[in-house]
Amino acid sequence: MKFSFIAFAFLLCFNISVSAQDGHRKHFTIPDIEGFHTLKGDFHIHTVFSDGLVWPNLRVLEAWKEGLDVISITDHIEYQPFKEDVKGDHNRAFEVADAKADELGILLIRGSEITRKMPPGHSNALFTTDNNLLDTPKWEDAFTEAKKQGAFIFWNHPGWKAQQPDSMVWFPEHTLLQTEGKMHGIEIVNYKEYYPGAFQWALDKKLTIMGNSDIHGSIFQEYDISAGEHRPITLVFTRERSIKGVKDALFDGRTAVFYNGTIYGREEWVSKLYKACIGVEPDVAAASEKSRSIFITNYSSIDLNLTPGKEAEKHGMIYPLELPAHSTIRLTARAAKAQEILKPSQQFEFSVDNMLVGPEKPLKVNFKF
Ligand SMILES: [Zn+2]
Ligand SMILES: [Zn+2]
Repeated sequence: MKFSFIAFAFLLCFNISVSAQDGHRKHFTIPDIEGFHTLKGDFHIHTVFSDGLVWPNLRVLEAWKEGLDVISITDHIEYQPFKEDVKGDHNRAFEVADAKADELGILLIRGSEITRKMPPGHSNALFTTDNNLLDTPKWEDAFTEAKKQGAFIFWNHPGWKAQQPDSMVWFPEHTLLQTEGKMHGIEIVNYKEYYPGAFQWALDKKLTIMGNSDIHGSIFQEYDISAGEHRPITLVFTRERSIKGVKDALFDGRTAVFYNGTIYGREEWVSKLYKACIGVEPDVAAASEKSRSIFITNYSSIDLNLTPGKEAEKHGMIYPLELPAHSTIRLTARAAKAQEILKPSQQFEFSVDNMLVGPEKPLKVNFKF
């Protein structure tokens, strides 16, 4: 009797210690840019409180394990297939997950998906104060209420085939929403899909660029995390590491998207991010009139692929340049002609093929030798 009690107590302790384990967090480095923190976010996530398959706390844990800083759980207002089994109103998922987010240092933003027919289709409202008030018969009233609550609103999956089967259309309703301050951003990547047309709209219409998972199942089931796959991430450049910092950055358009090895964003922010990722040192000892070399270091966890421009090619840099994550390479420029002397500080242009500042428009950078 006594033995079994001790064994039981031991098991109890053991179980408690096991259930307190949250596993390990992945460190994926995307450096801070000058004057700003670079936070990794996912602003489109579902749980059992709409049509997702997991409990809200697990969303926080998944985000922590994947190295994210900020998330928003954005369950559908209009669609709750599990409501007979899962009670609770439109704020409940946030309330359930909040303590876990605090514990793990994840910034958790209250939000909802306003789920309507096209137009205007689906939109997410972030930084809401009461999601229940978005449950209105008319979509116009849901957006008006979200705006009243000070929400940041973005158009979800604008190229989703179920709603835009033939081509991606910008409807007059979207113009109206944007004009009335009820649409501030747009997803250019959703789940595993990239919409170049939405990227161009974001640039032309000055909408904040977003890329999110829209995850319904477990993150480990939907993405092959162990093989290095990851969800789309919205990078947010914030003045402070806080919900307010994220809100200011989103309203200000300070974002970029990272998905499938590629960064997408406005040139202003992508070029700053590139500068933060890269360090260049001259190889002074090896410098001559005919050849000059530099060491290029990639401090980030993103493998970068560069293509030399015409002048670089003429000076012996004829191959695409691979700049692997957390690595240094040596690059040499050679005199193009017998009579040419390589002057110090000569610059050669390259394009960064996996940092896009527009659809099919790579960031141009210069290396000084
Ligand atoms: Zn949706
Ligand atoms: Zn969704």
